[in-house]
Amino acid sequence: MRPETETELCEIIRGAAGPLAVRGGGTRGRAVAGAVLETGGISGIRLYEPGALTLVAAAGTPLAEVEAALAAEGQRLAFEVPDLRAVLGRAGVSTQGGVVAENAAGPRRVQVGACRDFCLGVQFVDGRGDLIRNGGRVMKNVTGYDLVKLLAGSRGQLGVLTEVALKVLPRPETEATLCLPGLSDAQAVAAMAAALGSPYDVTGAAHLPGQGTFLRVEGFEGSVCYRAGQLAAVLRGFGVAEEVAGPWAAIRDVAALVDVPGDLWRLSVRPSDAPGLVARMGAEAVVYDWGGGLIWARLAPGCDLRARLGDFVGHATCLGGGDAQAEPAPEPAPVAALAARLRAGFDPRGIFAGAV
Ligand SMILES: Cc1cc2nc3c(=O)[nH]c(=O)nc-3n(C[C@H](O)[C@H](O)[C@H](O)COP(=O)(O)OP(=O)(O)OC[C@H]3O[C@@H](n4cnc5c(N)ncnc54)[C@H](O)[C@@H]3O)c2cc1C
Repeated sequence: MRPETETELCEIIRGAAGPLAVRGGGTRGRAVAGAVLETGGISGIRLYEPGALTLVAAAGTPLAEVEAALAAEGQRLAFEVPDLRAVLGRAGVSTQGGVVAENAAGPRRVQVGACRDFCLGVQFVDGRGDLIRNGGRVMKNVTGYDLVKLLAGSRGQLGVLTEVALKVLPRPETEATLCLPGLSDAQAVAAMAAALGSPYDVTGAAHLPGQGTFLRVEGFEGSVCYRAGQLAAVLRGFGVAEEVAGPWAAIRDVAALVDVPGDLWRLSVRPSDAPGLVARMGAEAVVYDWGGGLIWARLAPGCDLRARLGDFVGHATCLGGGDAQAEPAPEPAPVAALAARLRAGFDPRGIFAGAV
């Protein structure tokens, strides 16, 4: 099913007798129970006001179309949407709705936040087939429950997004990346903590074992030059930082793990715990992002990483890639109970019950 309008989508959901599997560009590729409901027919940029830093797009709009429109005006989505197709061996074309439904976030998350932090408003159809608008199309306060934050990251469990309003930002004039070579994982996490704790507005802090520890600053030329110099001085205790071409697209897309076989795992952890966890997990290869708060790891197919690590602060999600299907981290009981109540409220008939 591929509705072309919101009205058609409402009718499909009202008339649905069983579960529906919501699909944007399908890059996530997880098989979900139910008849496939594609959002690609509800597409197009509906409003773009560069001066107001806002863009409104129908949910099925290809992400590339949004990015091209922004680039033409010297603007961008600040949250750096990862493209995991290569590392997961998936095809498809990401849609703007899919990006919001996944609450996408790349390396810049350490400074600006995730997609959710840039969502001004949403329009979606719930499990009853009702069209709901929440938030606004401009950057001002809106009263009532903040469903925008709830829908961002909901992965199709609460309803089908049909439109999203986003705050966009100007592209910075320039950027600089410092690289510290040869650090151990523990030294790298300490260096990244020192950089992120400095007043120099670091917008990326990643460690690629064997390749180096990378730190990024962005902004106006004079400011970037000054901050990169100060940052190098802050990091002197970890070695001499060299300025290099930033490998940020490769870090965002986890390119270092593309040719490594096995299942792809993503762990959200306390940065200071990260090196110890990596030492215990027996991974084929890892990438540290977000100052060590995010670990990407390739593990032998079928490995139960959660069982191997036991209790730790954070969570581990298997994204598949080898033999495995994407498997979200289990939620703690109170969160699961809250999520179940929300799902029952938005989708009393269980139309989106297959979504995970
Ligand atoms: C397994 C996997 C997990 C990923 N997880 C993340 C992540 O956690 N963070 C990140 O930054 N990037 C993630 N990405 C990368 C990237 O952000 C997403 O793949 C991509 O943006 C999704 O867009 P899509 O249109 O292809 O969505 P799809 O792959 O079609 O769908 C992704 C999810 O969103 C739901 N969805 C799609 N469109 C809508 C809609 N209009 N309304 C409601 N629900 C909808 C689907 O049901 C599905 O659960 C992931 C990629 C993969 C392959």
